[in-house]
Amino acid sequence: MSTTRPTPADLRELAAAADDLATRIEAVQAALRAEDPGARSRAGFRLHEAAGQARRVSAALEDTAGELARIAATPDLACGIEWGVCPQHGNTLVSDGDRTVCKVEECPRRWGYDRVSTPCPEPVTHRITDTTGATYDVCDGHAISARQRITGATVEPIT
Ligand SMILES: [Zn+2]
Ligand SMILES: [Zn+2]
Repeated sequence: MSTTRPTPADLRELAAAADDLATRIEAVQAALRAEDPGARSRAGFRLHEAAGQARRVSAALEDTAGELARIAATPDLACGIEWGVCPQHGNTLVSDGDRTVCKVEECPRRWGYDRVSTPCPEPVTHRITDTTGATYDVCDGHAISARQRITGATVEPIT
C-alpha cells in the first residue's frame, strides 16, 4: 500500500480488511456460543458490538474510496474550486452528507454524493480577475457565484 498518495484501491483494500475483521469476530462469537450457550455466549456480547463497528469502519472506507475516485476523475481543466455549485444557479446547493440538491425550486439537478464538499468537477468557462489583479479560471456555476459574492472583481467568459 502506498502511503504517499492514497488511491481508491488503497482504501478499498482497507475496507476489505475491516470486513474481514468483522467476519472473523463473528466467527469467534459463533464458536463461543456453540461451545457453551450460557456463560460464554454472555461473554461474547461485546463481540457482536465489535463486529458491527468493524462493518461501519468498512462502510466509511468504501465511501471515502468513492469520493477519492470522483476527485481523481476530475480533469485538469476542471474548475477545481474546493466546494461544488449548481452549474446553472451557482452557490445554491444543500447537502445532507450523502445527497445534494439545488435550492432553486425549478432546478431538476440532484447528486448522489456530497457535492458541496467535493472539489468542483465542472469545465472551466470563465476568468475572474479580482481587485489585486489575480485571476482564477472557473466554471459557469462558480462564475455566477463570484458575480454575487466578490465585489470589484470582473468575471468574463474565456473565449
Ligand atoms: Zn440549480
Ligand atoms: Zn466550479
